[in-house]
Amino acid sequence: MTENTNPASKLPAKRSWAEPWKVKVVEPLKMTTREQRERAIVEAGFNTFLLRSEDVYIDLLTDSGTSAMSDWQWAGMMLGDEAYAGSKNFYHLEEAVRRYYGYRYIVPTHQGRGAENILSRMLIEPGDFVPGNMYFTTTRLHQELAGGTFVDIIIPEAHDPASEHPFKGDVDLAALESLIGRVGAEKIPYISLAATVNMAGGQPISMKSLRAVRALAQKHGIRIILDATRAVENAYFIQQREEGYRNKSVAEILREICDCTDGCTMSGKKDALVNIGGWLALNEYELYEEARNLVVVYEGLHTYGGMAGRDMEAMARGIVESVQDDHIRARIGQVEYLGAKLVEWGVPVVRPIGGHAVFLDARNFYPHIPQDQFPAQMLAAELYLDSGVRAMERGVVSAGRDPQTGEHRFPKLELVRLTIPRRVYTQAHIDVTAESVAAVYGQRQSARGLKMVYEPKYLRFFQAKFERM
Ligand SMILES: *Cc1c(COP(=O)(O)O)cnc(C)c1O
Repeated sequence: MTENTNPASKLPAKRSWAEPWKVKVVEPLKMTTREQRERAIVEAGFNTFLLRSEDVYIDLLTDSGTSAMSDWQWAGMMLGDEAYAGSKNFYHLEEAVRRYYGYRYIVPTHQGRGAENILSRMLIEPGDFVPGNMYFTTTRLHQELAGGTFVDIIIPEAHDPASEHPFKGDVDLAALESLIGRVGAEKIPYISLAATVNMAGGQPISMKSLRAVRALAQKHGIRIILDATRAVENAYFIQQREEGYRNKSVAEILREICDCTDGCTMSGKKDALVNIGGWLALNEYELYEEARNLVVVYEGLHTYGGMAGRDMEAMARGIVESVQDDHIRARIGQVEYLGAKLVEWGVPVVRPIGGHAVFLDARNFYPHIPQDQFPAQMLAAELYLDSGVRAMERGVVSAGRDPQTGEHRFPKLELVRLTIPRRVYTQAHIDVTAESVAAVYGQRQSARGLKMVYEPKYLRFFQAKFERM
């Protein structure tokens, strides 16, 4: 046998990929010791939201407002037209939303929840029901504050972390139909549809499901409002997984998603690659008129909505960059890289790997910690203690209390989210993170639960404090 000296024979079956950008500016990170981290997490009440960011090494708390802007976006920041009324940056933003999302009327807001507030006040009457493909924290709270009741109509597979269903964001049509039959279409102001469902693990909705919901909604005269926060990521999953979409661009699929709906709320801090910003988009003029009126009360004039001109310019440019196929492939590719490592090492994670994050299944990670001792909260703390990686709880703490009974809501999914900011971390950062998760998993038997010692009234996960049992 002669030695094979052709280096091409050593290539992996699947060739490596790299990001379609390079680093131009860096932000140094502080390295900490385990003792420093122990002090910091105790002071933070075992809540990673209460850590100081300078005590964090790799920050995977959220992908919200944490992405890196491009040089083209930063250049746009210098072109801010800071006029109180009629800023030209607003018109650039309006044009970008119209072109890529396709809605007729755009009301800028300071971020996504500003849009949710206006929408909920406009459309929801006390006693109404708002069906949605799983809840999101701020979305549901605004629906409840307006007097509505959220009803989960996501398919049951979404609640099963082991299910490999390719579209776990799909709607259970029978559940939606039965709700309409039970309460009547007039009690349903709109259907709240999320594209890539955050709380299900960043799982997409299929075009097939969207179309089916659209047909049913039209039959009953019910609007559909899209939570477009991660709709671009959803479009990528449709391209990759749904029959008939392989040769369509992400931009084309995004339009198709939005065309199935009557309006959207948007957090620009996610898909749109900016640190702050959002919008409400609508197709009906009468609704737009009302929204334009309400935005003045809660956000600012309808041509800035709580944003500086420069922020609107950065978002307009971020939208253009966000829908490029190369960008979104690299973005989701990095998340899949982390997920694949953990799966290979046998760490329990939500399957399939989501678009913006890898979700650790804390229930299976710490089966000996009961849910009322906050296993996911503890897992996030242990990860920080091990390596300075900051993650977030998405389980019983995030689910909050039932407004009627005052009891904890015990969600089926008890998760820790490792959320990847866009264009921020290198593959080496991802390797360090994966190894830290594996190390914490190796010591899972010794972990104990937590007790809550401070609980805020709203969105408690942000500020609650805990102590070791
Ligand atoms: C972040 C987010 C929101 C709220 O947006 P903010 O900009 O944080 O106010 C709404 N829905 C989803 C799915 C989100 O991820």
